Amino acid sequence: MDKIYDLIIIGAGPAGLTAGLYAGRSRLDTLLIERGPDGGQIAITDEIENYPGGLSGPEKIESGAELIARMTAQVAHFGVERLSADVTRVELEGPVKRVHTREGVRESKAVIIASGAHPRPIGCPGEADLVGRGVSYCATCDGSFFEDLEVYVIGGGDTAVEEAMYLTKFARKVTIVHRRDELRAVQSIRERAFANDKIEFLWDSVVEELHGDDGVLSAMTVKNVKTGELTRLEADEEDGMFGVFVFIGFLPNSELFRDVIDMEYNYILTDEEMRTNVKGVYAAGDIRKKPLRQVVTACSDGAIAAM
Ligand code: NAP
Repeated sequence: MDKIYDLIIIGAGPAGLTAGLYAGRSRLDTLLIERGPDGGQIAITDEIENYPGGLSGPEKIESGAELIARMTAQVAHFGVERLSADVTRVELEGPVKRVHTREGVRESKAVIIASGAHPRPIGCPGEADLVGRGVSYCATCDGSFFEDLEVYVIGGGDTAVEEAMYLTKFARKVTIVHRRDELRAVQSIRERAFANDKIEFLWDSVVEELHGDDGVLSAMTVKNVKTGELTRLEADEEDGMFGVFVFIGFLPNSELFRDVIDMEYNYILTDEEMRTNVKGVYAAGDIRKKPLRQVVTACSDGAIAAM
């Protein structure tokens, strides 16, 4: 291996892509590594209402996937090299950073960590076995499989409530199961959900167990957190199954960096120029400890980190 890049960016969500755009435009010799499709969380989001310039009405950006496709094209335009690979290990201390991937080792003078976050699972019995068989973490990916079926959405934040509304396009009925008696989602999103007559609410409730029948999700035990009462909810007999969509927050993809990078609750700590505690290593986007995780703040982080 002889080449040493100026910069390696890990992750091609909005933060990594924006870092790529700024680095490429500044003529840094840059490698952008991503293990899956570009976009991270936003690529699986149906509506982008709050990205500046995204507009609403006929001129709106149609979806997260469309916004990401535009960012990807812009990064390519500025000559950033791409590698599709899983990063398995990093050596970040010292002037030359080494990033180990399943496609070999790459070296650089600086690294931007933009590896984002993944959906938090419920963590109850039955969940892992039923992923893709009734349990999902992505409404835009899986919503259409639940045409005219019943669906439960777990969580009470912006994501849960927005995705519940999206799921009403397909499902016969959508029940939001929330552990409190009040939504966390902002007022404007709440109001739209309350006005949607396909949406019902199951308050003060958490999922205790998911049950499969013939390998598909057919029942669920929920607990009322105030009374302790357990209720088993069965799929309608004619349907034989229902859907459970889980939107209870995200966990940072930061395991690879835990030994050397300073973190709080597994989120990377940076200064306002996105520097971590290790010289030449920066972090951007959802993996960072920050007050607001949105596309616009991820892009902002990426730009600052690259500069
Ligand atoms: P969030 O705001 O952290 O909400 C997570 C929800 O899941 C909360 O209602 C929480 O309940 C519940 N929850 C957490 N752990 C749970 C558990 N173990 N069991 C059951 N319920 C659990 O996450 P988010 O909705 O994904 O949003 C993340 C960020 O993105 C937020 O800053 C949000 O504003 C932003 N966002 C914005 C938009 C938009 O502006 N259009 C859309 C999507 C997301 P409690 O309420 O009781 O804590």
